[in-house]
Amino acid sequence: MTSDLRRRARLFRIARIAVLVIVIAFFLAPYGVRSWFPVWLLFLLQRDLSELGTWGYWDPSEPTPPVVAEPAFRWIHVIEAVAAVAIVGTLLYAASRPSGWNAVSSKRQAQTEAILSREASAIARHPATVTCDKKGVYVGFVQDADGLAEVGGDQAFLTPEICDTLYQLAVKHRVQSFSRTGRAIAVLAHESWHLRGERNEGLANCYGFQSGVGIGVNLGLSKSRARAMMREQLATNASDSGTNVQYRVPSDCRVR
Ligand SMILES: [Zn+2]
Repeated sequence: MTSDLRRRARLFRIARIAVLVIVIAFFLAPYGVRSWFPVWLLFLLQRDLSELGTWGYWDPSEPTPPVVAEPAFRWIHVIEAVAAVAIVGTLLYAASRPSGWNAVSSKRQAQTEAILSREASAIARHPATVTCDKKGVYVGFVQDADGLAEVGGDQAFLTPEICDTLYQLAVKHRVQSFSRTGRAIAVLAHESWHLRGERNEGLANCYGFQSGVGIGVNLGLSKSRARAMMREQLATNASDSGTNVQYRVPSDCRVR
């Protein structure tokens, strides 16, 4: 290879690595950046580089180049290939890993369900079981169905999302989002009031927000924070209910 060809080959390699880095950065970037960055540009860059790379080495108008020896074995090429495979593998592994409630060990899931059952039983005033409906058999399909409970019954179901948020709070002592945690507590409390015998959805919401302060404290929140969460749930109740007016609390509902 002439020094010119060698330089060009090196340039292409650097350009390819740059594109690879951009692709990786794209996958790791926050959603806001990803939605803004044109994905087709990445594919275009990658494709053009591959094409340029092959016909760039030899110009047919030039005399046929003499047969050259096989390019020398270079460790840098091996390292590059291994690094590329490792990066793609890591990305695939990260993408295929279970997340949310499915990533919680079965022991921790059982522990969480026991805690939630204890809270529900205290409100229902009789033994009750809270089950996290992993397969979505009971809840999760119908809009506004984050939970389900039979009026006066002893079994409540919650969606995996609600269970995960409550697990984060009760077991990991984490509040990932103020509103989401408040919502999860309110859903658990709402279903518990159904178990107690309350049929009216608006009243189950109001009593649920009131009981939610106690649940929040039992799960590890300070009283003022738990109260602030339930007051936010009360304040957004009308907009959360939308056209399902039966979920609206009575106008004199208060969270103390
Ligand atoms: Zn309900």
